[in-house]
Amino acid sequence: MEKQVGILVDTTQCIGCMACEDACADRWGFPHTDVHELSCEKNTVVQQWGETYVPRLCMHCENPACASVCPVGALHKTAEGPVIYDVNKCIGCRYCMQSCPFQVPKYQWNKPNPKVTKCDMCFDRIEKGKQPACVEACPAQARIFGYRDELLQEADKRIKQNPQTYIQHIFGKTEVGGTSTVYLAGMDFAKLGFKTDLPKTALPQYTWNIMSKIPDYVLWGGTLMTGFWWLTNRKKQVAEYEERLKHGKSDGSSNENKR
Ligand code: SF4
Ligand code: SF4
Ligand code: SF4
Repeated sequence: MEKQVGILVDTTQCIGCMACEDACADRWGFPHTDVHELSCEKNTVVQQWGETYVPRLCMHCENPACASVCPVGALHKTAEGPVIYDVNKCIGCRYCMQSCPFQVPKYQWNKPNPKVTKCDMCFDRIEKGKQPACVEACPAQARIFGYRDELLQEADKRIKQNPQTYIQHIFGKTEVGGTSTVYLAGMDFAKLGFKTDLPKTALPQYTWNIMSKIPDYVLWGGTLMTGFWWLTNRKKQVAEYEERLKHGKSDGSSNENKR
């Protein structure tokens, strides 16, 4: 397998300058705002927890739940590591939003034909040999781009060499089976807004086990979605997919990680 890339976010280095937010906004053509919450117009944000700044973006899970549940294969994990997204395939069903353990995908409520948006690790830039825009813009090297295994080695080294600065944990090394965005911190990740009760196993298997073994889960999901069908105008496509799920079938094109 090809070596995978990733981003190491060292929260002890972030100075909260927001250059990353601005660079990401420019790349996507989003407005610059002072709202530091992920949204359909913010694919990265920097949040302040006490004196610590915490950049947020897609975790680019090794086995992404979002891609696993997408009925039309709009999201997929590339061999290089980033979890990318094809807006032309998206039917606006929002399964990915419900499945993501980090609440990353956001919905374009303000658009007549809404889709889901999220960080794609600047895949087009990476393919051209460039760094992600947010990494390039960071003046403090609080975000570092590189091969995931080398980033983990670097994170390990920092922890060993500076035990007073870092807690002994790399967030994303094992959470939900591992992620391509990994974090270092100077205090318990729970105090920085991270979910710390996540399983070490990949969520897609868990998700599909639930969906196949407990039909009510599927029905519940369908009921929840009824409210926004009118918005997407794609009711038929979603209904057809759910019908296939009920009969234990899924679209073979939906996702390469659904194994
Ligand atoms: S963090 Fe969420 S949106 Fe990003 S790859 Fe993982 S499951 Fe998908
Ligand atoms: S990698 Fe690209 S899309 Fe993702 S947060 Fe950084 S600039 Fe935005
Ligand atoms: S550009 Fe770097 S230092 Fe500035 S807020 Fe973003 S991650 Fe932090």
